[in-house]
Amino acid sequence: MKRVRCPICRKELTKRVKSFPFCSARCKLVDAGNWFEGTYRIEAERIEPTWGDN
Ligand SMILES: [Zn+2]
Repeated sequence: MKRVRCPICRKELTKRVKSFPFCSARCKLVDAGNWFEGTYRIEAERIEPTWGDN
């Protein structure tokens, strides 16, 4: 069986979880946050520039 580690906290996944390949929903959110700060920001400019004025 292939071993998978959470890309955020490096914890080894022992079973198939709902948040796969992350160990938890929390790590999944962290990953999403990284997206918003990085690559996704470039895309966001031409989608909806409405969120960001808080
Ligand atoms: Zn994790």
